Amino acid sequence: MNRDWVEKDFYEVLGVSSDASADEIKRAYRKLAQKYHPDANPDDPKAEERFKDISEAYATLSDPEQRKEYDEVRRLVESGGFGGFGGPGGFGGAGGFGGQRVRVEDLGDLLGGLGGLGDLFGFGGAGGRAGRSGPRRGADLTAELYLSFEDAVRGATTTVSVRGEAPCSRCRGSGAEPGTPVRACPTCGGSGTVAQNQGLFSFTQPCPQCHGSGRLIDKPCSQCRGTGTEVRTRNIKVKIPAGVKDGATIRLRGKGAPGRNGGPPGDLLVHVRVGRHPLFTRRGNDLLITVPVTFTEAALGTKVEVPTLDGKTVTLKIPAGTSSGKTFRVRGRGVHPAKGKPGDLLVKVEVVVPRKLSREEKKLLEQLATYETSDVRAHLKV
Ligand SMILES: [Zn+2]
Ligand SMILES: [Zn+2]
Repeated sequence: MNRDWVEKDFYEVLGVSSDASADEIKRAYRKLAQKYHPDANPDDPKAEERFKDISEAYATLSDPEQRKEYDEVRRLVESGGFGGFGGPGGFGGAGGFGGQRVRVEDLGDLLGGLGGLGDLFGFGGAGGRAGRSGPRRGADLTAELYLSFEDAVRGATTTVSVRGEAPCSRCRGSGAEPGTPVRACPTCGGSGTVAQNQGLFSFTQPCPQCHGSGRLIDKPCSQCRGTGTEVRTRNIKVKIPAGVKDGATIRLRGKGAPGRNGGPPGDLLVHVRVGRHPLFTRRGNDLLITVPVTFTEAALGTKVEVPTLDGKTVTLKIPAGTSSGKTFRVRGRGVHPAKGKPGDLLVKVEVVVPRKLSREEKKLLEQLATYETSDVRAHLKV
């Protein structure tokens, strides 16, 4: 929680201008630190207070990153966007809010876009940290899943093994010893937050008694010592949608590590690897298969039985005069994804030339050659 950034002018504390160089800031700090150092001012609480302020200001302004963020906060504060901050004593009265109290969660949202400035106030956005002791979202866990080609095409329900933080198996994540009560926190009434008013602003903070969980435990669980979590291997059921692609990541919301202090659990990210198939390959939602035919089949035309992934075959008519490499499309016989249009089966014809010929075959082919009239290399002649 760095509320001081909103309230204190560190440049004024060090007596330098807001565009002071790093050297100027350092010199100003050394001079003031010597003057107000507690050793030089024994039993002077005012000097001690001043020394603390100087140290805080210097700690922020001497770090270029922090100084940049601080400047941004101050710029927002002074731009009037927050109604303007008056002189000493906090927030100058009539501001842009028409006297309405500003809840600082909103301020956190507003600043959330500015490189995590929202965190300064202790409220993260989604997935951010919310103060050191407030509710914290659980970590995302990852798992690798190997699927067969068929399972990826058809979809499957399977389990993945995940080792990581999980709800404690003894107390089921409550943190309380089984049989002992979990009470609503009296300080925050179970909400996990307490509001603190300061001038125009109302700051919401994680409740100091229950650390934001809203619950109090009489007797901590003997297995997890009250944390509600333990590290173990879990088998988690995963429903894989039909048509999942190799390399895809499936996010299972809430199946990651449990949150702390009432924060939500993280997600489980399942990375999918898909195996090969001896006959089929995939291009998006299309399935590709190569079908060998003989020269005579390609020349005279034929019908071939083509296997599909669902076990049935389709009959494909190869017209007379089909060249090797020609691809035929069988509509709708590819991958049927859970979402989107079904793919096609692409059948590539490959003319197979025999390595060896029988005596009869050779004789007939030689005879055929004498009849061949077309010059297939006519276009290569110069
Ligand atoms: Zn436990
Ligand atoms: Zn509480």
